[in-house]
Amino acid sequence: MKKRLLIANRSEIAIRIIRSAHKLGILAVVFQSDKEPDALYLKYADEIIPARDAGAEKPIFLDAERIVSLAVKHNIDLIHPGYGFLSENPDFAALCIEKGINFIGPSAELIRNMGLKTVAKSMAIEAGLPLVPGSDGAVNDFDEAKNFAKKIGYPILLKASAGGGGRGMRIVEKPETIERHFKSAYDEALAAFGNGDLFVEKYLRNPKHIEFQILGDKHGNVIHLGERECSLQRKHQKLLEEAPSASLTPKMRKEMGEMAVRFAKKIGYFSAGTIEYILDEDGSFYFMEMNTRIQVEHPVTEMISRVDLVDWQIRIELDEILTLKQEDIKINGWAIECRVNTEDPQNRFSPQTGFIDKILFPKSEDIRIESGVQSGSVVTPYFDSMIAKIIVHGTDRKDVIKKTLAALFEFSLIGLKTTVPFCRTVLQHPEFVDATYTTRWVDQIFTPEMLENDDDELIGALAATIIYASEYLQLSSDLPSYKNDSLNVWVLNKRLNY
Ligand code: ADP
Repeated sequence: MKKRLLIANRSEIAIRIIRSAHKLGILAVVFQSDKEPDALYLKYADEIIPARDAGAEKPIFLDAERIVSLAVKHNIDLIHPGYGFLSENPDFAALCIEKGINFIGPSAELIRNMGLKTVAKSMAIEAGLPLVPGSDGAVNDFDEAKNFAKKIGYPILLKASAGGGGRGMRIVEKPETIERHFKSAYDEALAAFGNGDLFVEKYLRNPKHIEFQILGDKHGNVIHLGERECSLQRKHQKLLEEAPSASLTPKMRKEMGEMAVRFAKKIGYFSAGTIEYILDEDGSFYFMEMNTRIQVEHPVTEMISRVDLVDWQIRIELDEILTLKQEDIKINGWAIECRVNTEDPQNRFSPQTGFIDKILFPKSEDIRIESGVQSGSVVTPYFDSMIAKIIVHGTDRKDVIKKTLAALFEFSLIGLKTTVPFCRTVLQHPEFVDATYTTRWVDQIFTPEMLENDDDELIGALAATIIYASEYLQLSSDLPSYKNDSLNVWVLNKRLNY
């Protein structure tokens, strides 16, 4: 009897997990949410469980009780949580285990400990990892925060202990504003995570975000698969990632990688995980946190290491021994991932919803596309705006930048604005090209004027005209609608001289 794996997630990551399940001879089961009943991932699954949100307390992907009771009913052996939603919720993991279902990830206790940054930090201290100067644990009130700030100097960062996705974080530049920021960070953290605990860190003005990918099994074997640089962020959300990072010397890479493995071993970590570091301008680096799930940006690591991380997550959960040794991990070339978000970079990245009239992805053996949508899909306001990822491999950094740029010029989406023009701008900017960009690039350097001329607007206007014309024609004759032919794309291709 084949094992049955339920994916408690949607979109591109659901399809990604289905691929691994099938490779391993496992049946993939998914939920059909009534918020997107025609979603693309449903087409790839072996079995679909209808899960109507109407009348339910919570949407299906956030409802641990409902997911697990449906899983029991449908004889599920394993649950993969993907990223986001309940992927780092220790109660969800515990509930799966309680009902005899394998949760693909580390133990509930480890998820709980790593989810609390203050606990994770104290465990990192024990493993000898360097930490950003600040309070080791949560502070009781803003007076205590003020005392720490006095010791380490302004600016400081107030961070939510239970935080994630950049929420509950405030930069404080001077003592006069600490009370106000403390209150708003506390309220935000309490509302978002049910826990308002805050701690203090020295705020680094121009840091880089470097993270190491870890794989560990249930038998004590742990390796790392090198680093990713994820410094291109807006509001602490990553937009474009690369691996390896041009900011590390071989000595730093070795040191950071060994530290990550030491930490994972010390805490008894198993499954895929990520150790995040913050790298200061002077080359000092500090442990920031650990993510206990698969990351959105995992494909850049897969491309340069040729190791399938999702396969290993499943195999490890099934008690397999991690046969890969550290010395087997060879880094090949360079990879870049561009997130395709339906957001308008011209207009403060405002989310776009509606129909994707036509979407065309670049194709080549160096390009990997992870998409949750196709032509005709609808982007609703209910979910995250990331609809796809374009991942490109090159022989070295220069080569991959060139190839990624070419790939993005081949991408076309009619109907909604995306972050692709933004990614094109990034790839051509001198600070990206010379790899000096930091997490502050979007805030400090990017302006909408930097987006390439008005091709996008022209394309939009042209597409609108074609759509209007074809709809008009359809009304007056039996000509096929624009959705059924390639006229619009042909015109656009011509316009751009592809
Ligand atoms: P979250 O879990 O909410 O994503 P992180 O601790 O991972 O929070 O931090 C998110 C981002 O915030 C980092 O990638 C980095 O850009 C920035 N950041 C975190 N700590 C600091 C710091 N001490 N100084 C400057 N920037 C920081």
